[in-house]
Amino acid sequence: MDLKADIGVIGGTGFYAFLDDVKEITVETPYGAPSDKIALAKIGDKTVAFLPRHGKDHRFPPHMINYRANIYALKQLGVTRILGPCASGSLQPHVKPGDFVICDQFVNRTWGRKDTFYDGPITTHIGGAEPYCPELRKIAIEVAKEKGLPLHERGTVVVVQGPRFSTKAESREFSSHGWEVINMTQYPEVVLARELEICYANITLVTDYDVGLEGHPDIEPVSHEMVLKVFNENLEKLKDLIYTIIERIPKERHCRCGEELKTARMG
Ligand SMILES: [Zn+2]
Repeated sequence: MDLKADIGVIGGTGFYAFLDDVKEITVETPYGAPSDKIALAKIGDKTVAFLPRHGKDHRFPPHMINYRANIYALKQLGVTRILGPCASGSLQPHVKPGDFVICDQFVNRTWGRKDTFYDGPITTHIGGAEPYCPELRKIAIEVAKEKGLPLHERGTVVVVQGPRFSTKAESREFSSHGWEVINMTQYPEVVLARELEICYANITLVTDYDVGLEGHPDIEPVSHEMVLKVFNENLEKLKDLIYTIIERIPKERHCRCGEELKTARMG
């Protein structure tokens, strides 16, 4: 197997390995080291590069992840599509633990993260209206439906800085906007991928109800243990979903994610 890959998978909390028969490689980037070694493996004629977002032993909390190195490392391998599964909390009663959400929007409430590759002299303003790849989202929705998974075809994820979880007041604010899920890692991962003209889709697995649910005192606020428990119960379904999505991804892209910089560059 050569050291090239077509599709990247960035596994989140609880998702530290994906395929068998992998070749592990160390990749260096101008932005430093990615979170861990990258595991290359084949699905059909496609080479998949798997990277655990927090490192295999979860040694990088969300605010300490080198997102630029992670995305750049995949770009160096030739990756043109990334699937970024993650665990998230629900902000709405109808979005339940065990459900899958194919997010179409995010709201950034993180701060201080290095969220661009363009610090000058080249100035680049990528579009933000549709941050997730429409082609990958469509495939993910189709496959999840076929597999009969509990699915929300769209959703807004609010990305918070962490590492602490929300207060009740914060969570109430997020819910009141109608946002569906809350997470600590979608930003800046998704925008960095777009800056390098890589298609990116998120697959959220809902693990908890954030601070609980109004009027439901029996529902406990989120804890790290709860996230891992629900995530592990659903991990095989998530892996199976991602496997089939990768099988379905066509060789050629039919989206505009790879043309971003034609219009984004200034001067
Ligand atoms: Zn795309």
